[in-house]
Amino acid sequence: MVVIRGATTIPTDTPEEIKRAVEELLEQIVSCNHLIKDEIVSIVFSSTSDIHSYYPAKAAREAGFGTCSLFSAMEPEIEGGLRLCIRVMIFVEKNIMPRHIYLRDAKVLRKDLTQIFNVAIDGPAGSGKSTVAKLLAKDYNILHLDTGAMYRACALKVLEAGVDVEDETAVVDLMRNVSIDVEFKDGAQRTLLDGEDVSEKIRLPHVSMAASSVSKHPSVRMHLAEKQREIAHKMSCVLDGRDIGTFVLPDADFKFYLTATPEVRARRRYEELRRKGIEVDFEKLKEEIVARDEQDMGRKIAPLKLADDATLVDTSDMTIEEVVSFLKNKMQEKI
Ligand code: C5P
Repeated sequence: MVVIRGATTIPTDTPEEIKRAVEELLEQIVSCNHLIKDEIVSIVFSSTSDIHSYYPAKAAREAGFGTCSLFSAMEPEIEGGLRLCIRVMIFVEKNIMPRHIYLRDAKVLRKDLTQIFNVAIDGPAGSGKSTVAKLLAKDYNILHLDTGAMYRACALKVLEAGVDVEDETAVVDLMRNVSIDVEFKDGAQRTLLDGEDVSEKIRLPHVSMAASSVSKHPSVRMHLAEKQREIAHKMSCVLDGRDIGTFVLPDADFKFYLTATPEVRARRRYEELRRKGIEVDFEKLKEEIVARDEQDMGRKIAPLKLADDATLVDTSDMTIEEVVSFLKNKMQEKI
């Protein structure tokens, strides 16, 4: 069972306005979620206490939604709350990603659900960016774009071709005829290199440092940053990387910079690799992380740094759930 939410407002409390608003809201929910009316199990309305002239449930029945159970309730009066507002929850017997619909003045209720918005999460390796970004995206039902995967795919190509990662001319030459794409299947990102799914291969430790090296080359960066912007402008997403809030999307709606001590970050990476059956030496991994940070922070173009308007979060002593909830609270404050 899936629940789809929606809300709308009416200009005046008259039966005609209520009927019109309810019909418009329900029709939009049905069409945006590709529903057939028989898939709706029940519809529950609540309306603000300044609406008296007609039951929204009755309006729904008259609009052709009479085969499911319908219910209307009145909300308590909340100071500062939206006036003349009708909210709805539609329970559906179908396995879909719900698209919630907010119309008219109700758009202000859930800005995050009604317009494209981008969340930038930057920070060094192992700071928890990717895990947090994934959970946040799932929670808001939007896309998670792991931009590091694109640099990793590029590095993999360079390594496989036996090209020196430091040799910008050779790297750029090689990249001219390479395609790096991302696809999203069941909410998870798959990274494609010349059509081949390399999502697992790019996680190997030797690719990490190479990714950091190829990402120093301005033409590689420009090319990948443009792809990332294209995706972000088309749909709401959480992007994690090194330069999202400073270079790729300096106007992102929400910006966070996650960090943690090198010891903690190395420990997280170590555990993550071990879970995947990849054996690594902890001290070597820590050295590699510190060296990578230095390279990422020291490069000339779009280095890793805290954007002036980003929220800094030290995750050293926080659980993933705590970080996600902290970010969500910060976002809600702004919505
Ligand atoms: O995040 P991840 O560890 O997968 O990133 C691999 C490398 O790709 C980073 O060390 C960094 O050099 C580079 N990168 C970048 N800009 C991004 C994302 C990753 O330079 N937005």
